[in-house]
Amino acid sequence: MPSGSIELVNVTKEYQVCGTRKTAVNNVSLTIRQGEFVGLVGMNGSGKSTLARLINGLIRPTGGRVIVNGLDTGDNNSLQAIRSHVGMVFQNPDNQLISAIVEEDVAFGPENLRLPAKEVQARVDWALQAVGLVELRHHAPHLLSGGQKQKVAIASALAMRPDHLILDEPTSMLDPAGRQELLETLTILNKQYNITVVLISHYMEDMVRANRLLVLDHGAILLDGVPGQLFAAPEELARVGFAPPGIVRLVNNLRAGGYEIDQGIDTVQELVETICQLSR
Ligand code: ADP
Ligand code: MG
Repeated sequence: MPSGSIELVNVTKEYQVCGTRKTAVNNVSLTIRQGEFVGLVGMNGSGKSTLARLINGLIRPTGGRVIVNGLDTGDNNSLQAIRSHVGMVFQNPDNQLISAIVEEDVAFGPENLRLPAKEVQARVDWALQAVGLVELRHHAPHLLSGGQKQKVAIASALAMRPDHLILDEPTSMLDPAGRQELLETLTILNKQYNITVVLISHYMEDMVRANRLLVLDHGAILLDGVPGQLFAAPEELARVGFAPPGIVRLVNNLRAGGYEIDQGIDTVQELVETICQLSR
């Protein structure tokens, strides 16, 4: 088994609810290699959060195996290592802030590992720089914008030096600008530092930066492909209750109307620039 990967082998998770069993994840097999940017979309209740918690060993599968960097989440002795390999970021930024100063928040994890002060400092510096928060290091996190708070949460996860980052609906409480900024940060972490990003969302708009898109429905993976290809076949997405992002639909409509616009455009800014050039 290669290190630096997340592997799910026939994974099922059932919850006991009032004496009956409810299947949240249903026989999922999946390999995510280090350095992939995976978007995971699904409706409410489709099993996204359960899948995220299975991957970092917060919960165990009732069937099958979850293997992270060669370590089985079913093995108690591996859990600490697994959690250091997989960083998690959740929906509500306020629930993830612990300290009164940004850099103290980011230092919390490595300090708990009782690392030497110099190493803690180096990790904090690196993590703040990676998410672009160096200037705000002495600020109070609760006074920052939602998007900045999520970046603090990401920096705190990064300070543990994870190979993989799982973000469970991190954009859902952000305004459009904060959301864009967060997606850009994730793209940088993925491209520059080769950190695996698993971005969970129910907004297809969030998926334009991913290089692989998974659609989850009733605990099963219905689609697994390259976003651009899935967006180019909207009928298939519609069958599972989704539509391509608005920007992609707009580009498709303009192309259908005979305008020479590149299929790969996925930001409003790029589209605006292209249209301006067309009209020159
Ligand atoms: P999503 O994150 O896609 O909204 P979840 O993984 O939270 O989906 O939930 C999947 C299914 O499992 C839902 O039907 C939900 O009600 C159920 N579920 C999630 N967590 C628990 C739990 N701790 N106990 C019982 N049922 C749960
Ligand atoms: Mg969820």
